[in-house]
Amino acid sequence: MDELIYRYALLEQIEKDSEGTLGSYGENWQFINTIRKMPTIERRPKGEWVYHENDMFCVRWNKWECNQCHERVEYKYDFCPNCGADMRGGDAE
Ligand SMILES: [Zn+2]
Repeated sequence: MDELIYRYALLEQIEKDSEGTLGSYGENWQFINTIRKMPTIERRPKGEWVYHENDMFCVRWNKWECNQCHERVEYKYDFCPNCGADMRGGDAE
């Protein structure tokens, strides 16, 4: 599994460790610039599927509700097709 670093926290720590010597002419300028150029990913929320009974006696019904965005879907997916939440941790009780 890849290890991810929170860029904002890294830059903040470097600035703290350099004790205010960072600036456009500081010795870490190139290093800081490289960090700022690195690609980023967005953190996905963790979600769970909530089961709903078929109270309408329909043949097809959206029985699984995402507990993050509350959209209902017919099947459980690894990721919510509506909000993108990571659903791989199991179902809500
Ligand atoms: Zn969702």
